[in-house]
Amino acid sequence: MQMSEPGVRLLYEAARELGLELGPVLPSFQLLYRRLLEANRATNLTAIRDEKGIILKHFVDSLSCLKGDGLEGSLRAIDVGTGAGFPGLPIKIVRPALHLTFLDATQKKIAFVEAVCQELGLAPVRCIWGRAEELGQHPDHREAYDRVLSRAVGSLSVLSELCLPLLKPGGVMIAQKGPGVEAELEHAQAAIGLLGGRVREVITFELPALREHRSLVIIEKVGPTPSKYPRRPGLVQKNPLS
Ligand code: SAH
Repeated sequence: MQMSEPGVRLLYEAARELGLELGPVLPSFQLLYRRLLEANRATNLTAIRDEKGIILKHFVDSLSCLKGDGLEGSLRAIDVGTGAGFPGLPIKIVRPALHLTFLDATQKKIAFVEAVCQELGLAPVRCIWGRAEELGQHPDHREAYDRVLSRAVGSLSVLSELCLPLLKPGGVMIAQKGPGVEAELEHAQAAIGLLGGRVREVITFELPALREHRSLVIIEKVGPTPSKYPRRPGLVQKNPLS
């Protein structure tokens, strides 16, 4: 149930390639690893279950989000569709000052994230069971965040409608994507503009150790989002803006 010695070394070295010194927080990653395995035995929390997969595709891949923005200091950030806590949990472990909200539409997933946050003493955090479409229209959350993070939740046009309403003007959205994001981006350009966003850059890189290609799409909020967005749950996905 423990991460093996070679596993710990792999994590440590891959993080170092990303410019991160994980030494002092390795026990937190150990605990997260154990809790993920336990939860996956009881319920179906994540598809990736092997040691190397968890280390590289969950932990290191989540940390690679920091290539898009260092997330230093006490910024207010939200991880939209965090699932079992990715990318949010690894990021919060290495950026403890971040005010991080975890959001997911599935109760058992957000309950898992909340329990792990408590056990690791991660604060300040908020764990919300709900939908981005609802938060985006809620006065406490609309245009309330400096950063919005998201991995594997939808196409860029869907994601933009879910995420941009939550950003303060001047804030930044970081979408973690695989290779070949150009066509998706092209398709989403008009929607991004309509929602008050502007693509600042697309960062492409190889993930340490796995050597798979990844991209980070960085979108800044340059104007307000019209009040009709996000539309209600279902519509956003069924009829994406383009
Ligand atoms: N980000 C995680 C999980 C990806 S799976 C990871 O990369 O491992 C997609 C997750 O997004 C699911 O857990 C699902 O419940 C959540 N999700 C999808 N649409 C959502 C929405 N509109 N609001 C909140 N959560 C959503």
